[in-house]
Amino acid sequence: MSRDTIPAEVKRAVLVEAGHRCAIPTCRATTTEIAHIVPWADTQDNSFENLIALCPNCHTRFDQKKEIDRLAVKMYKHNLGILNNRYGEFERRLFELLAKSGERVFVLGAAGDLLVANAVKDGFFEDKHVQGMNFDIKSDSGYSKSFPMTFTYWVTDAGVEFIKRFASGNDIA
Ligand SMILES: [Zn+2]
Repeated sequence: MSRDTIPAEVKRAVLVEAGHRCAIPTCRATTTEIAHIVPWADTQDNSFENLIALCPNCHTRFDQKKEIDRLAVKMYKHNLGILNNRYGEFERRLFELLAKSGERVFVLGAAGDLLVANAVKDGFFEDKHVQGMNFDIKSDSGYSKSFPMTFTYWVTDAGVEFIKRFASGNDIA
């Protein structure tokens, strides 16, 4: 069995796990390339657990130049599983964005509170109920309600810490 015989369904699962992007949180370039975490030559291990999506650049830095540490790559893989189970796609993209920008405040549009509900529950973002835009409904039957259309969030200290661990490949569990 050669290193080229990674079963198609395993390959697909590994790419889906990382959203067809490089699994290094600060990179996230689109990719269809897959790397062995423990080298193929050592264990001939083509299992899902030993594979991770990396872009060609990070793959070279990991495999050949040894600029990316194996333990860090193991942790990126471990964190991907947690992130995928615990947070939605929008939250994961937000973590990446905040890791790059270092922003502490951000504004979301309608339904933004649903998009970051898990991260808010975990105490990473805080809604300080800044007065924003509202959508007011009044029906003939007398029903009236005002729906918020903007949500302003602060990244908490716990959120900053989490994003730092996520971006640097430390355990986020
Ligand atoms: Zn990369």
